[in-house]
Amino acid sequence: MQFGDFYYPLPTNEPVLNYAPGSKEKLLLKASLKELKSSKIDVPMYIGSEEIRTGKKLEIRPPHERKHLLGHFHEGDASHVKKAIAAALKAKDKWANLSWENRANIFLKAADLLATKYRAQILATTLLGQSKNVIQAELDASCELIDFLRFNVHYLSEIYRGQPISSPGVNNRVEYRPLEGFVLAVTPFNFTAIAGNLPTVCAMAGNVVIWKPSYTQIYSAQLIMRILKEAGLPDGVINLIYVDGAVVGDICFKHNDFAGIHFTGSTGVFNTMWKAIGDNTGNYRSYPRIVGETGGKDFILAHSSADVDVLVTALARGAFEFQGQKCSAASRCYIPSNIAAEVKKKLVAAVKTMKMGSTEDFTNFINAVIDERSFDKIENYIKNAKKKDSGVKILIGGNCDKTEGFFIEPTIIETTDPMYVTMCQEIFGPVLTLYVYDENKFEEVLKIVDTTSPYALTGAIIAQDRYAIELATNKLRNSAGNFYVNDKCTGAVVGQQPFGGARGSGTNDKAGSILNLYRWLSCRTIKEMFTSPIDYRYPFLQEK
Ligand code: NAD
Repeated sequence: MQFGDFYYPLPTNEPVLNYAPGSKEKLLLKASLKELKSSKIDVPMYIGSEEIRTGKKLEIRPPHERKHLLGHFHEGDASHVKKAIAAALKAKDKWANLSWENRANIFLKAADLLATKYRAQILATTLLGQSKNVIQAELDASCELIDFLRFNVHYLSEIYRGQPISSPGVNNRVEYRPLEGFVLAVTPFNFTAIAGNLPTVCAMAGNVVIWKPSYTQIYSAQLIMRILKEAGLPDGVINLIYVDGAVVGDICFKHNDFAGIHFTGSTGVFNTMWKAIGDNTGNYRSYPRIVGETGGKDFILAHSSADVDVLVTALARGAFEFQGQKCSAASRCYIPSNIAAEVKKKLVAAVKTMKMGSTEDFTNFINAVIDERSFDKIENYIKNAKKKDSGVKILIGGNCDKTEGFFIEPTIIETTDPMYVTMCQEIFGPVLTLYVYDENKFEEVLKIVDTTSPYALTGAIIAQDRYAIELATNKLRNSAGNFYVNDKCTGAVVGQQPFGGARGSGTNDKAGSILNLYRWLSCRTIKEMFTSPIDYRYPFLQEK
């Protein structure tokens, strides 16, 4: 019951703190890091009202300091997936019927807790657990996650207000119901904000959720869960489980009450999910919503009119921040011959100044990649590029060392073949490949950029010439869901640059925009007649 139309106006983006020497935020963060490093965490799964410790403990260690143990999490099995589904379905009715302002305020309170009481801690868990440096963690784990929570409340408020017109004697209204059943949220390692957003955006709309995070993000995921509980999220609305992805998928995708998947991760995994859902079509109560944001092979294209320093900065930041482990990271660059020598010289000089090491030393720009599997995969691309017959040159970097942590130097490869493997495949590491083209062949290069990879997530044009900008914007219309002009291709901000791509990069349902919210709702239209007809015969049936 609510006696008012409770509307949440457009918020502003959470201000980014700068962690300058002597700042309060820096002191708090250092203290939080010290505290977390001096204790061992024991992380349960959260199912319904229970904290479940199975005794099957898996270690949590910083990717940059393998010898340090941060704690353990308790791995579950198929029985926990079933238990989580049962807990979610039990919580469903009460949650779906809770008034909007009481639902919304839980997430707004969680945003405030993140912005204040837990800001240092959510940063510290991201620094230690995912090897993200301070500013990258601030942009992700605090600002973006806070923004997701606040903006999504506003967007849902907007949606709820949207009502159809009514003709005389009639009242029409639309009710924005949650989906029937449960939603599965499967989240990646690389963004704490995405991990928090995928389950909460569904729950906010009245859905109940099974949340399966990446094992390498559990250190920050468990804190998000505890914050949501502290903010008042009722038991069973979001159930956090640590179970092998394939096992989770197998049970959820065969379940009659499966209502939707909210996924972010690699294209291969999403393809297997889509297929499993397809194989079960006909077994579901409703057609499930399939939302997935997946891989990228993101480009920076420079025109002969490009400002060299703008290009070099876009490449240095776009390719190497968070070790290139962003779906949006620049990983292929097309440079016109007239500026190639200067760009390469300046870029190599910039990369030489990048310090690599632990995230606890704030002077490090580069930290470790997430785990051994990623390390080995990235190293393999580099090893192949080093082979004499590879036809490519390594301009800088190329050293990999996993003795202390999973460290890979920022690496720049130059190729004369625009279809060389590192120009086409997602590497998800600090590896950038350059291709120099004839400055007079801009239009030919546009075709190459568009057709090189199956992905279409982000891309950038660096140019001063307005005709070149317009041409690239038009010719590359379907090559990227997020297109940048004279900027790096990373760093989308909630409410400002709705994020997502099509083709092999996902369903393009734009996290951080109103479009995403619609996927978690199922409308019911209600028409009420004030003067209902009482005779079936229409006037045209009478001749006179
Ligand atoms: P991943 O695909 O390996 O894992 C993502 C999630 O899926 C994890 O929770 C994982 O445990 C789970 N999973 C793995 N196999 C599964 C299976 N068979 N069934 C069900 N779940 C399964 O991805 P990752 O390494 O965590 O993240 C990196 C990938 O995510 C990159 O490809 C990157 O481009 C992509 N990504 C995309 C976006 C975007 O918005 N487009 C954002 C971030 C990351």
